[in-house]
Amino acid sequence: MPTIHVNVVTPDGKVYDGDVDMVSVRTVEGELGILPRHIPLVAPLTVGAVRLKKGSTVEKVAVSGGFVEVRPDQVTILAEAAELPSAIDVDRARQAKERAEQRLNAVQKDGIDQKRAELALKRAINRLDVTGK
Ligand code: ATP
Repeated sequence: MPTIHVNVVTPDGKVYDGDVDMVSVRTVEGELGILPRHIPLVAPLTVGAVRLKKGSTVEKVAVSGGFVEVRPDQVTILAEAAELPSAIDVDRARQAKERAEQRLNAVQKDGIDQKRAELALKRAINRLDVTGK
């Protein structure tokens, strides 16, 4: 069975490098499932989990925005931040979630702070989801 090579890269370095059967990413337009020989494309990513399917196992990577570049035999994810579950500090994510929720309760609607807090909340929830917490 053909596989597809996946790289997940952040400004801090490589987070994942391996061959998988299928990869799915969360683009701004929705979930995108990528199998080997997919048509080439580039799409912006939203905060979400990258799912890497290999046999019967699925590995998840928490990604905080960026871009995916698809080529028939290669997927490159250029992420603003990305963490494997083992690299996620659950307490830190819980604290970030709490901070963001407090800000959302305090800030005026429609403000820049509101948008920032919403994004911070999404990042924290995504990290907790990926760790299963
Ligand atoms: P915090 O408020 O806790 O910094 P954040 O969502 O603002 O969270 P980011 O700006 O997305 O953090 O990421 C900054 C750096 O910190 C990135 O390298 C990211 O991988 C890392 N990081 C953020 N939160 C966590 C976490 N809970 N566990 C491990 N690494 C994290």
